[in-house]
Amino acid sequence: MGQASYDDLKGRLREVATLGSVGSLLSWDQETMMPRDAASFRAEEVALIARLAHERRTDARIGELLDLCEKDPDLGSDPLEAANLREIRRDYDRACRLPAELVEEIAQTCSRALEVWKQARADSDFESFRPWLARVFELERQKGECFGGAGDGELYDRLLEEYEPGMTASQLDGIFAPLRGDLAPLIAEFADDGPMGLESLRVPLATQSRLNRDLAGRLGYDLGAGRLDESTHPFTEGLGPGDTRITTRYREEGFFEALGSTIHEVGHALYEQGLPKEHRHGQPLAQAAGLGIHESQSRMWENHVGRSRAFWSWLLPRAREATGASLQGVGLGQVMRAVNRVRPQSVRVESDETTYNMHIMLRFDLERAVMRGDLAVEDVPGFWNDRMKRDLNVDVVDDANGCLQDIHWSLGAIGYFPTYTLGSLYAAQFWETIVEVIPQLGGQIASGNFSTLLGWLRENVHRHGRRFTAAELCERATGSALSHEPLIRHLRARQQDLREAR
Ligand code: ZN
Repeated sequence: MGQASYDDLKGRLREVATLGSVGSLLSWDQETMMPRDAASFRAEEVALIARLAHERRTDARIGELLDLCEKDPDLGSDPLEAANLREIRRDYDRACRLPAELVEEIAQTCSRALEVWKQARADSDFESFRPWLARVFELERQKGECFGGAGDGELYDRLLEEYEPGMTASQLDGIFAPLRGDLAPLIAEFADDGPMGLESLRVPLATQSRLNRDLAGRLGYDLGAGRLDESTHPFTEGLGPGDTRITTRYREEGFFEALGSTIHEVGHALYEQGLPKEHRHGQPLAQAAGLGIHESQSRMWENHVGRSRAFWSWLLPRAREATGASLQGVGLGQVMRAVNRVRPQSVRVESDETTYNMHIMLRFDLERAVMRGDLAVEDVPGFWNDRMKRDLNVDVVDDANGCLQDIHWSLGAIGYFPTYTLGSLYAAQFWETIVEVIPQLGGQIASGNFSTLLGWLRENVHRHGRRFTAAELCERATGSALSHEPLIRHLRARQQDLREAR
């Protein structure tokens, strides 16, 4: 009885997820291929799919089947299926609290806001985006209100819950405050404003494209089950079984930036490709444990692997061969400084891994202030510029390089930013454990062998899906609760290594 209901339930969830995949494919297309004039029709398509998926997700029959499954003792005593059911219940109850009209309105508003934001950023014109931003915050406020009443904690928590289940803003305060306390002196000690020394490096786009594709495969990304394309804002889209796509961004003068982006997205894609989607598409056990853990995977590959001396001692000779003249005469020391130096500046995605977290804490405080009603949308640029000055001593030249730089708000992703720093923290904590259990890892990376590392991640993170929360995964894999200290140790060690090598 329970098993038949469970099979029915899983079949329905697979359909919901497949509708979601169609929606994601539309978004992927919008970012990579779509002609400009298709934008308003695309908003219609996206909104329709979002509404259909929501209707199916909240179908009363799913609730009935879930009730039956929860009463089945066999399912309840199987730890995997019990975890699956627990998470299906969580998703269902949350989805049922959202009215379909609101879901559709958010999808439609955001699809149009995205186009307005692109133009506003190109023109550095905050005024044209301001009403859209106000609308997005208002819709997100309504969404937050659906998830609870007065006394259920602050509104921001209920949006954060979407991206980092179980985390609250006040818990974040408890991690971010000591992190900020240790980062500020680290930045002051190691900030390096001098010229990079590789400013004149230019690598033809076709060469970069070949090298990035080759590297993605070497790291373990299965290109037979994915694609590497270009977009303004690099991203990963885990569409479904056998289809995990990534994008990157090439500029002739942005050789290291493109490699960093590609490695980052490969980290996300390896997680997606390591989830048990073949048999469980649409089920929580085949989904990521939250965006913090997702980001820990991208940041581990980007920062702990992709900015290390071992990695570059392997990649540099290969890159020299691939790029012909461009990289002749460029030494390992120069590369290490170019990819690791601490250099406060206004653009988040171009920031080094030390100052990066200051950008995130600014956004967290800003969004929280708007959600609390303490900050008006028209005062966002002022708040932004003041904080950049205070936190990083950076003067923001215009809003394109300030509060208009990120895509997130136009996507309605309020409460998303903290997951980037959580990702850095989880990555650093995982990494301390990994180098302890795989002492030969440095040598493996220096010879282009990434399979032992990937094996550890598959075993300790990927295969579990949402069986454990992020906090539980961290405890199980590393033996302790999340702390800011491993990240600080990592950042300090790397800067000291850089200084000693000079
Ligand atoms: Zn990422």
